[in-house]
Amino acid sequence: MEFEPVIGLEVHAQLLTEAKIFCGCSTKFGAEPNSHTCPVCLGMPGVLPVLNKKVVDFLIKMALATNCTINKKSSFARKNYFYPDLPKGYQISQYAEPPAEHGWVDIEVNGDKKRIGITRIHMEEDAGKLIHDEHGLASYVDLNRTGVPLLEIVGEPDIRSPEEAAAYLRRLHEILIYLEICDGNMEEGSFRCDANISLRPVGERNFGIRTELKNMNSFRNVQRALEYEIKRQRYILEAGGEVVQETRLWDDAAGVTQPMRSKEEAHDYRYFPEPDLVSVIIDDAWIEEIRRGMPELPLAKRERFVREYQIPAYDAGVLTASRALADYFEEVARLSGQPKAAANWVMGDILRFLNEEKKGIEACPVSPTNLAAMIRLVENQTISGKIAKEVSETMYRTGKTPEEIISEKGLVQITDAGVLTDVLVKILRENGEKVAQYKAGKEKLFGFFVGQAMKATGGKANPQLLNELLKKMLANQE
Ligand code: ADP
Ligand code: MG
Ligand code: ZN
Repeated sequence: MEFEPVIGLEVHAQLLTEAKIFCGCSTKFGAEPNSHTCPVCLGMPGVLPVLNKKVVDFLIKMALATNCTINKKSSFARKNYFYPDLPKGYQISQYAEPPAEHGWVDIEVNGDKKRIGITRIHMEEDAGKLIHDEHGLASYVDLNRTGVPLLEIVGEPDIRSPEEAAAYLRRLHEILIYLEICDGNMEEGSFRCDANISLRPVGERNFGIRTELKNMNSFRNVQRALEYEIKRQRYILEAGGEVVQETRLWDDAAGVTQPMRSKEEAHDYRYFPEPDLVSVIIDDAWIEEIRRGMPELPLAKRERFVREYQIPAYDAGVLTASRALADYFEEVARLSGQPKAAANWVMGDILRFLNEEKKGIEACPVSPTNLAAMIRLVENQTISGKIAKEVSETMYRTGKTPEEIISEKGLVQITDAGVLTDVLVKILRENGEKVAQYKAGKEKLFGFFVGQAMKATGGKANPQLLNELLKKMLANQE
């Protein structure tokens, strides 16, 4: 029997607000344990939470970017469970009345486009962090993270393969980063994913029993965990068994998923309305204000780059990987007036140099102005494309302008036909035998003569002129 995977992802994104969701404590990562706490986020009796408006701003941004319907009225609920990282004994979340729902994002896998539904997006508070003593003698609790705002993005079970799951995650990730509402750091846990997966016989309409996978801290691990789980469930079903509905943890070192302790599986959250918070009312004016401040989203930017700059979709994808890179490219394209050359130089040399040093475009020593100037110098034939390679590398190492580098190193292209003719006369004279072979039909030797002339001029000969002259001279040789 053939089985088909059914996958639905739940994503938690930590928001880049200054303050926590219900108190004024800082959200900064990496501070002294328990230093960013107050009676509210410590869950002391009698304190009252106050909603941080910024969190709602960010929710509206994400809802608009993922085509969600925004509900005018939503409310908070208490999700009750006992765990030492949750001082109140409940998490303030949203349940019955979510602020955003019925959205979607488009993904592409191996050239196939697909729309993945988003069930809902809601706001909630993060829990604290437990640090377990390696000898098993003690556990420590750090409540700095308690009350840090999260968006939970619940996806529809529309995903049919681990590749689609990774593509969907990458799409959400890039949107959050473009919106500047989440830093997207998976290792530090600011972007987390739980993956629900079940199998069903191909052609079956009902879903099978699912497991929920946790603890994957990279895109790759989400994919690996799903691949493993598909195999595991298939073995069970093929043997006539039944999948147990449970939460399983991905074990990166072992490359397997393992059941989580059973007491945590039996969920009864006893959700009920949060009596200490009023409903959230989002009016049209608020939505409009946020809409006006929205940046162009990655997919729209990609399509515009292809249209406006006539560059391949692949290139547009690379150049829009981050907002900063896209801005850099557009500045070079504008200043040079040559978008295609700009795309090639940014994607070629600039990204290669940056990757070698694991640096982002923000740290690029070559300013858009300098790169654009260099592209214009190639265009007006002051330097050849080959020399430009040397110039770009020197610009990167020194931060100097192309003009400075060209004059310091004497790299100006030779466009004087007289000078090049002299060079060629000498080369043809010294290689009489090869000239004869060329005349006898070995046309490949043309490249050899060009190479010799380039060598003799330190790569500075204007290639077109050189080719022209060489052709004429060879035709006139005896
Ligand atoms: P829970 O309350 O356990 O979080 P939900 O019904 O809200 O359950 O679903 C959570 C996630 O599981 C959603 O992303 C949804 O797409 C996915 N999901 C639901 N049913 C299945 C299934 N049978 N197989 C795979 N994924 C599923
Ligand atoms: Mg869940
Ligand atoms: Zn606090």
